[in-house]
Amino acid sequence: MNNQRRRIADHTHVVTKKVKTEEASVTNFREVLRLKTVQPEPDYDGAVKFLQRMAGELQLPCKVIEVHPGREVVVITWEGTDPSLKSVVLNSHTDVVPVYPESWMCDAFEGKKMDNGDIYGRGTQDMKSVLIQYIEAIRNLKSSGKKFRRTIHMTFVPDEEIGGVHGMDDFMKLDDFKELNLGFALDEGLANPTDAFTVFYGERNPWWINVICTGKVGHGSRFIENTAAEKLQKVLNSFLGFREEEKARLESVKTPKTCKTLGDVTTVNLTVLEGGEACNVVPQQFKATFDIRIPPSVDLEEFEKKMNKWVEDAGEGVRIEYIQKHTCQNLTSVNEESPWWRAFSKACDNMNMKLETEIFPAATDSRYLRAAGFPCLGFSPMNNTPILLHDHNEFLNEEIFLKGIKIYENIISELAMVSPLENERN
Ligand code: ZN
Repeated sequence: MNNQRRRIADHTHVVTKKVKTEEASVTNFREVLRLKTVQPEPDYDGAVKFLQRMAGELQLPCKVIEVHPGREVVVITWEGTDPSLKSVVLNSHTDVVPVYPESWMCDAFEGKKMDNGDIYGRGTQDMKSVLIQYIEAIRNLKSSGKKFRRTIHMTFVPDEEIGGVHGMDDFMKLDDFKELNLGFALDEGLANPTDAFTVFYGERNPWWINVICTGKVGHGSRFIENTAAEKLQKVLNSFLGFREEEKARLESVKTPKTCKTLGDVTTVNLTVLEGGEACNVVPQQFKATFDIRIPPSVDLEEFEKKMNKWVEDAGEGVRIEYIQKHTCQNLTSVNEESPWWRAFSKACDNMNMKLETEIFPAATDSRYLRAAGFPCLGFSPMNNTPILLHDHNEFLNEEIFLKGIKIYENIISELAMVSPLENERN
């Protein structure tokens, strides 16, 4: 080759390197980020159409189940070689929370990718990444000719971000859900800023309460006795005093054995305060709303007694009104006795992944599954990533996203090959 030709050849090489095409899975991820499945009016039709197209590409059957008017669950199924065995369910929700566009550095729904591979968009972490990773992992496993013992279902549910009442909760009441014959489920987790991956095996119970304080009314110029405000003051002191104690407990010196996370303590936050009509009238009522999250280690009866005592001590005419009160304290086993955990952790060990097991600090659809007795782990394979769910400028790096697909391939392969359990043998 003479010099002239070599230069041309080298040049061609450089050019082809520069226009390196994007992985199809990343393109799919960015496409799903552009679907405006944002609360309060998510484009669920767009999501269903997208998922139907994916099922077509995977050549797998796809069921669209209306669980509530305008609310559909999509189920894509890969049947196992022994369909009588309990299945592995890969669950994700299709909706996302709203954004404050002025606080974003780009449009949260354009699927923007930066030169360093960071992909920005609402849902990059919570949880459209996982939704696509499931699909791509199944695509790769299927195209490599793999076959598994257990049936694998991918379930895509609406409305998780507004409590899942017309999503997972309604779905679980239907025969379509029973027909899944669920043995074990994976659902969302959280990013981990370190090298490690977090696995969630339980959740805190959210209690949302109004504390209503009533008292004597009168002119704003006098010392009225027994006012709603005095009672409110006592209520606030008790609840927020407890908040301080729990905060201190979380922040107390951490040793590897006592290391506490948000999932290990009770959080209390005053979120709404209402009352009063006019500047010069002592009002009859104040209403304080608290968002309380209680870890599974807390005795709920004892905790309720404690709260009732605070309210009693605040004086007459003070009462609690429950807006939501979850009481499921079921945990999914993360010890070697569980065949599901053995399969999950074996796959992770094989990839030298460091796992941290925790209680989820907030609530996900997993709580419905665990409450019904199904084992379920919350896991999103995003290490070395700041936790940005529901935050401005939510992003995930392309490399982490692609690694996550491989991680799921290994985990799914192990889970779908778990030997028949005691109760599955006739
Ligand atoms: Zn989520």
